[in-house]
Amino acid sequence: MRKCLLFFVSFILSMMMFANNTSTIKKIRMNTNPSQLIFDINSKSKPKFSSNYDEYNRLLFLEIEKTDIGTKFNGSKFVGKNIEKFDMIDYGSNIGFFIKLKPNVNHKIYTLNSPYRVVIDFKPSSSSKKEFTIAIDAGHGGKDPGAIGFKKYKEKDITLDVAKKLKSKLSKDFNVIMIRETDTFITLSNRSKIANKAKADLFVSLHINSAKNSAAEGMEIFYFSKKSSPYAEKIAAYENSFGEKYGEKTTSIAQIMGELAYNKNMEKSIAIARPLNTSLAKRLGMKDRGIYGANFAVLRGFNGPGILVELGFISNKNDIKKMTREVNQNIMAEELSNKIKGFFY
Ligand SMILES: [Zn+2]
Repeated sequence: MRKCLLFFVSFILSMMMFANNTSTIKKIRMNTNPSQLIFDINSKSKPKFSSNYDEYNRLLFLEIEKTDIGTKFNGSKFVGKNIEKFDMIDYGSNIGFFIKLKPNVNHKIYTLNSPYRVVIDFKPSSSSKKEFTIAIDAGHGGKDPGAIGFKKYKEKDITLDVAKKLKSKLSKDFNVIMIRETDTFITLSNRSKIANKAKADLFVSLHINSAKNSAAEGMEIFYFSKKSSPYAEKIAAYENSFGEKYGEKTTSIAQIMGELAYNKNMEKSIAIARPLNTSLAKRLGMKDRGIYGANFAVLRGFNGPGILVELGFISNKNDIKKMTREVNQNIMAEELSNKIKGFFY
């Protein structure tokens, strides 16, 4: 008799549950571009869900309310780029999903109408460590304004503007180290030390040229070389002189690379510099002055390939007009970022 009663009660209960379920999960499917997990739901009203994410275990719990499952569930089908494990529990009136995410995956859950869907978006978390690290060195800063030119523009301000824009472009694909992010003074030797400590794969130093002859114009890129042409040596001596001016003996900055690494790094630096200078000049309608090797103190101390970009002449009216316009700074950042990306990936 008791058994009979128990059966009767559970029968009534399950009937009530069944009656309460107003929707059915018709299908669960994965979308690759964008990365999404989609629950197609047959329902008269907007499906309700609750969710909880256990950060430590990377376990996402999603419960879709008042629904039953109208499809065969095979969790292993969804294991891949974003999902490590996928299980389901049928609570009678609600269906619960336990989704273990892969490391560094962000998620967002929401519903969509006509037809009703519960959607989970997956995105790589921005804090995730990328394969390569780029050090961006905005030339000069603080008490060292760098070159001062037409309309009293300062080299340190323009290099920082472009550096910040370059950071935002590169951050999607690289870990980025900013040698300076504010108007602060950092010695030349400390700049390369910061990059070495971060184990940067490339050092990008941004500068602006200056000449007595205001007709001198255009962009050029330098890489570290112990041998150089008289012209390149002059530019290196000019940039190094800022170190001397602010109390640093730049000749004492040691080349920390061995000969083998030195040659390899020079090769890599040239491979980045050559196409970059051509495309930068072309996109900005500026003169392509070419690329040169020279003994720059700021590049010498870095243990890897490095380039020093002279974005234009602060002493030239046209160049300064171009370099100070935000739209052009964005183009510079974009072109630098594209060519750096092209080299590494
Ligand atoms: Zn400079």
